[in-house]
Amino acid sequence: MLSAQTTDKKVNQVTPALFSEGPTPAAMAALSVERILTLIKEVGLAPTKAKNVKRTAELLVERHGGLVPRTLDELEALPGVGHKTAQVVMAQAFEIPAFPVDTHIHRLAERWGLSSGKNVETTEKDLKALFPEDTWIRRHLQIIYFGREHCPAQRHDPTVCPICSWAAPPRQDSESTASKSAKASKSAKASKGAKELASKGTKASKDSKDSKVSKGAKASKAVSASKTPKGAAAKAKATKGRAS
Ligand code: SF4
Repeated sequence: MLSAQTTDKKVNQVTPALFSEGPTPAAMAALSVERILTLIKEVGLAPTKAKNVKRTAELLVERHGGLVPRTLDELEALPGVGHKTAQVVMAQAFEIPAFPVDTHIHRLAERWGLSSGKNVETTEKDLKALFPEDTWIRRHLQIIYFGREHCPAQRHDPTVCPICSWAAPPRQDSESTASKSAKASKSAKASKGAKELASKGTKASKDSKDSKVSKGAKASKAVSASKTPKGAAAKAKATKGRAS
């Protein structure tokens, strides 16, 4: 509930004081939104989260006798509790089989060819079908820890990672192809730019040829001048002036 757009480290820094003042749903519900906001102000989206924490605490008291419910529907009905959070609570608090899909699991399932990577709902469905239900809780944590430690979101280069590059050729090929096409596109743009420059250069050259003889004489004089250090400086200055 507090972790969106915030690091785990930051959440762990604010929760001791928050839970010290609101150790039970009833105690948390008795705190004002402003007080909760003060306690959690360092986490992202703090104003919204403060309102959600208070309202959820109130609903736990009103609907569930001050206890955290155990079903997906009841959990998801609480403000600030999404599908992933509800499944984390089920798995970690009550050990009810669930497969919460976070960003690491979603990324790795696609890289490993276990799911299409279309969306987190599809990933969850595919992983639940793939792994036996009694392994879901353990497997979900294993994949998260592996992803954080060994399988970075950015700069994924299977060619230098020895861990499983041998096991996922289709994904590597597609990433490699994507990388190649990005490079090819960049190169094509550079080539086009070079051609345009060359074309402009040719035109400039033609214009120069067509110019009056007096201009040619002046240019010739400038070239001669540029052969001396003083002349070169003057030419550089003139060039800079034209460019600007
Ligand atoms: S090759 Fe390495 S970085 Fe790539 S998916 Fe496998 S573990 Fe992750």
